[in-house]
Amino acid sequence: MDPVGVAAAPAPAEAGPGPAWPSKCPWGAAKGAAMSCSLADVMSEQLAKELQLEEEEESAAFPERAAVAEGPFVTGENIDTSSDLMLAQMLQMEFDREYDAQLRREEKKFNGDSKVSISFENYRKVHPFDSDSSEDEVDWQDTRHDPYRADKPTTTPKKGFIGKGKDITTKHDEVVCGRKNTARMENFAPEFQVGDGIGMDLKLSNQVFNALKQHAYSEERRSARLHEKKEHSTAEKAVDPKTRLLLYKMVNSGMLETITGCISTGKESVVFHAYGGNTNEEDKVIPPECAIKVFKTTLNEFKNRDKYIKDDYRFKDRFSKLNPRKIIRMWAEKEMHNLTRMQNAGIPCPQVVILKKHVLVMSFIGQDQAPAPKLKDVKLSSEDMKKAYYQVLHMMQQLYKECNLVHADLSEYNMLWHEGKVVWLIDVSQSVEPTHPHGLEFLFRDCRNVSQFFQKGGVTEALNERELFNAVSNLNITADNEVDFQAEIEALEKMNEDHVQKHGKKVSAFPGDGDPPVCGE
Ligand code: ADP
Ligand code: MN
Repeated sequence: MDPVGVAAAPAPAEAGPGPAWPSKCPWGAAKGAAMSCSLADVMSEQLAKELQLEEEEESAAFPERAAVAEGPFVTGENIDTSSDLMLAQMLQMEFDREYDAQLRREEKKFNGDSKVSISFENYRKVHPFDSDSSEDEVDWQDTRHDPYRADKPTTTPKKGFIGKGKDITTKHDEVVCGRKNTARMENFAPEFQVGDGIGMDLKLSNQVFNALKQHAYSEERRSARLHEKKEHSTAEKAVDPKTRLLLYKMVNSGMLETITGCISTGKESVVFHAYGGNTNEEDKVIPPECAIKVFKTTLNEFKNRDKYIKDDYRFKDRFSKLNPRKIIRMWAEKEMHNLTRMQNAGIPCPQVVILKKHVLVMSFIGQDQAPAPKLKDVKLSSEDMKKAYYQVLHMMQQLYKECNLVHADLSEYNMLWHEGKVVWLIDVSQSVEPTHPHGLEFLFRDCRNVSQFFQKGGVTEALNERELFNAVSNLNITADNEVDFQAEIEALEKMNEDHVQKHGKKVSAFPGDGDPPVCGE
């Protein structure tokens, strides 16, 4: 009878040791208004149940996750993630269901065996989860794809019959009609499986055909509706319910004070600004302002990034076993590890605060909610431009030598000009080690971007891309033109690959490039 499983909500026992912090709205706006959009989804019991199941399944698949924390702020899985408000909502639902059950009992008692009965339906609290009932009734006036119209009345002329005497067949003839019905199934939506009835000379009775037609219509609408829902959840609200739940938990735990808004919506990530809160762990300070990078769980954009991670030996063993959603988490994880390496080398970059699934919280580069401008957006004096260039050159060298990394997406788009004096590097989820099968090509591309930007910006001292490549890598490739240079790079990569194939493990084939630094991985 009960449309929603009664046992779905977590037992109240789990609600006991919840956080003592007051619930806060993660969007930083007035409690009621902003939360109403997300709460409807976030607090749905169905969703919570699914999330719970998934969390269990995924924590089983990621047993090593607790050990990945390496920075001073990374707390792995240890923040309290229970939410008082959510549990309260769940308890309320539980209560409402009991209330309804009682109502039903009373209704039954009241009506007894009486032929005229009174319904208490309007007083019920719980309504079926995402009921499709209204859509299941097919509106027969709707003739968008009316199969009847497509059918030209060629087999039966206007008069309603063909043939003569006892050979006469009317339009009501069972065989003709059945065949016609079978043929009309062709008009159903293409994804609707109708089998090979036509080839079999199947004859569908009107009754069966009408039932099928009705079903086909409602399926079509249902999928259109589901599709629309999905679109809305990704495009309009920027983050899906799961992500909202994660963010909500961060605010509710007190770790973040408020999430003020979105700084950037890229193809692969959405970045939010937040004011930092507190942890109850000593010697851990949350930066006063944070950037939250949410790696998009819509998968399409990540397809072309396969090559970065697939060939990265640090992730090689895990790649093949993972589903796309887990791969996206690996991007976030990769960004965390790379930022930590950079931090340790003293390169100006965001400091990792915490990683939760596909959500990375880091320190905010900027002030009062205004992110530091990208190099591409600032107009620098020629003196500052020159200073910036030398900083970038130095950072590229540090990145290569001390962090054993190649940025792989370095350009004026991913360098921020902070406090009017320092270049900060961001966006390192795709960074790889130089021994990555395409690592040197990525480095060469980075060098091209950097040297073009600064040469165009009037820095006469700026090395050209080949000189810069050698200055960063110490590889001393002598080719004096782009094509030959590229060829030598690829030859080096191939040499390294062959070496790996032969020896089964990654050993740097490059002179002057010692063992990769140990970074807790
Ligand atoms: P994407 O992969 O979408 O390019 P980025 O890491 O480059 O992701 O972030 C997108 C934008 O968000 C950046 O260009 C920058 O403006 C802003 N941003 C990202 N991280 C921070 C941060 N830690 N502090 C300030 N702004 C940031
Ligand atoms: Mn970027």
